[in-house]
Amino acid sequence: MTTMSIDSTVASQIDAINPGTLYRSAIEEVAESICPVIAEHEKYRKARVFERLLIPDRVIRFRVEWVNDKGEVEVNFGWRIEHTNVMGPYKGGLRFHPTVTEDTLHFLAFEQCFKNALTGQPIGGGKGGSNFDPKGKSDNEVMRFCQAFMRELYRHIGPSIDVPAGDIGVGGREIGFLYGQYMKITKQRDGVLTGKPMGLGGLLGRTEATGYGTVTFVEQMLKHRSEKLEGKRMAISGAGNVALYAAELAHQKDAVVVSLSDSGGALICKDGFSEEQIRELIDFKENQRGRLKDWSGDGCEFYREDKPWSHVDHDVALPCATQHEVEKDDAKVMADRGCKFVAEGANMPCTHEARGLFHERGVSFGPGKAANAGGVATSCFEMSQNASHDAWTKERALNKLNDVMLHIHEQCVEHAPKDNGIVNYGAGADRAGFIKLADAIVAMGV
Ligand code: NDP
Repeated sequence: MTTMSIDSTVASQIDAINPGTLYRSAIEEVAESICPVIAEHEKYRKARVFERLLIPDRVIRFRVEWVNDKGEVEVNFGWRIEHTNVMGPYKGGLRFHPTVTEDTLHFLAFEQCFKNALTGQPIGGGKGGSNFDPKGKSDNEVMRFCQAFMRELYRHIGPSIDVPAGDIGVGGREIGFLYGQYMKITKQRDGVLTGKPMGLGGLLGRTEATGYGTVTFVEQMLKHRSEKLEGKRMAISGAGNVALYAAELAHQKDAVVVSLSDSGGALICKDGFSEEQIRELIDFKENQRGRLKDWSGDGCEFYREDKPWSHVDHDVALPCATQHEVEKDDAKVMADRGCKFVAEGANMPCTHEARGLFHERGVSFGPGKAANAGGVATSCFEMSQNASHDAWTKERALNKLNDVMLHIHEQCVEHAPKDNGIVNYGAGADRAGFIKLADAIVAMGV
């Protein structure tokens, strides 16, 4: 253990489970934040709450075999990590990406438990996915893969057991294929997946929810420092579900969105994308599955194989692509370019060192487990809609999302230590989520 502030009992518990690198860094982050809470509450120590939270309820690993368009057999790994259902059914996305490992999913499932607790909705934590790469595959190949994946997964999930959703590489198309196969195998149309297409029981507003929620959260961070989003220059990384809808709402709230990116490079628009350009980009990425390098717009420049931060001044940054995309050097460039507020649209896009740099430079930092929790909260509304055989309006879903994000911000502020007058949202989110989980674990007994 490198972090001195982590209590030695907690440190030895972490070493005992021997987590992978990503999972270890997630645990160490949380441990550092919650040590004072554990020290203060004997009931948590006695019930060994933290140790019990580190080991998932179960890890399901399976083989996914399918046939590609050339008639060849392909084989991938599939996983579902059911981390804890102490707050409600396991809930968390499925990620299809070639870099997915069990370590990635352990870290995401652990983070998800805290995030879900913070939403105040009755949902536990889980995560799953595969090392399958949907990029470059035909619709038929993606469909056959999803069907094969569900042939194994269906026996482990249920509307009050485990309710997966989308994540990187799993959008409406994939959720539709997965749910279709689930319905064929089980005869149930019980809403067991969220993020479903509308005809299959999806919720209006779910597509927008994570990006919109992140913008709502960062707006609260600004207000807390007596500033306004209006007129602020906002750099966004990623050009997927989270990034694009964050751009849409930020523009509606009169922020100036100056960048997007994908794994091919960064698209910079120094004077800000217009409403029409954002709409075009949503269609280009969602429906045409285009690459940013192939898109052109007035006032926009593309920088190959690069991140957006160094190319444009910005007051606010929303990293919305993937984990550990913002390293210490990026954080330094961001602060040099004028950035005062960072909110993570992605899950843990900023490394520990990057967060340290933000802290040193007085940049307010909103962690993903708080800032991007609007997606999973809205998934929970989809579960309610399906369970009550109802049809929510988009307005109802987005109003409730707004309330949840405001409440998450309040909880972070309430539980956060204040460093030089700046709210430590990371510690606030960990502590608020941990207390909810810990109280439920104590109440449940052993
Ligand atoms: P998408 O697959 O829709 O988009 C991901 C975007 O990030 C794509 O533009 C992708 O580019 C880019 N990206 C991925 N890896 C890299 C990389 N190594 N370098 C540069 N760009 C990269 O995913 P989402 O928008 O759904 O998810 C983004 C993040 O938000 C993830 O961390 C996810 O866990 C998190 N999140 C998502 C939620 C949701 O509701 N969707 C909810 C909460 C968190 P390319 O296409 O070139 O790979």
